Amino acid sequence: MNPDLRSKGLLAVKIFIPAALLLFVFLSSPTWSRSEGMGAAARDGDLTVSLQPRSPLQGQAVVISIRCRKSSVSPRQLRLLGKTYRTAAVGKGEYKAVCAVPLNAPLGAQPLEIVLADRRTVTRTLTVRKGDYGEEHLRLPAEMANPTSPAHLKQIKNDRRRLRRAYGSSAALIRFSHPFTMPLSSTIITPFGRRRYLNDIPKSPHGGIDLRGKTGTPVPAAAGGRVAFSGRLYYSGNAVIIDHGLDIFSLYLHLNSIAVAVGEQVKQGQIIGTVGSTGRVTGPHLHWGIKVNGIFVDPLEFIKESRLLLQPVGEE
Ligand SMILES: [Zn+2]
Repeated sequence: MNPDLRSKGLLAVKIFIPAALLLFVFLSSPTWSRSEGMGAAARDGDLTVSLQPRSPLQGQAVVISIRCRKSSVSPRQLRLLGKTYRTAAVGKGEYKAVCAVPLNAPLGAQPLEIVLADRRTVTRTLTVRKGDYGEEHLRLPAEMANPTSPAHLKQIKNDRRRLRRAYGSSAALIRFSHPFTMPLSSTIITPFGRRRYLNDIPKSPHGGIDLRGKTGTPVPAAAGGRVAFSGRLYYSGNAVIIDHGLDIFSLYLHLNSIAVAVGEQVKQGQIIGTVGSTGRVTGPHLHWGIKVNGIFVDPLEFIKESRLLLQPVGEE
């Protein structure tokens, strides 16, 4: 071969291979926010992000596990579908978080943004799948279904204020050390997510599961935490809400009696009250719900997700 041609060929290889490598690195790297530019971006290897599941159903929570090799890329907060989420440090350079997909979330690819300590943003993609939970029609006395009396409306307004305060009390840490368990091992009367019609008027979908139970049956806490609310509400009757950290709350509604006070630390299995029929109900049962950062998620799925949240980063 002509030596001149060979050196030209070598030059082409010398340019082509690094260019192809650069293109590969660019395509396989996380999406950096445009405003921050590409130049100073950390390499993908500095940050490992795992999402479980990657394709959640509407009404499901997603557990995010993050490992970072530099403090500059440690996660500060996460953003999904207009909500901001806290992250909990669980080890050196290891973080966990839980995000929620609302029942009415748009389907398909949704960006999950991770805001880093150096203010850059890394994006991963979740694919939201349709959650089909069915519908049901209920009949209730008119004033119970749609309260109009000033006293009831005043109470409902006051309830909202008390609940806002309760839900604002969480912190960037995991308050439980064992996966969630069902508070009662009885039949599910009404599953999560059912679209409900009260006297033919559409209402918000069922935010939890209704478990069969006789009045007076003791109700244990599904996991350890701190009591964020304990008291009587217009719709929910006697209610206990436990804060499990990371804006995860479990709700126990329509109780006959309450056994815990706000601020109390509860252990998994500790009796928080008894089954009843207080509030807007047609009979005694336990309504058990899980709320993540203001969004109701399927409690049965959350039992599995709570296990993932407790697993060491990298072993999901
Ligand atoms: Zn219910």
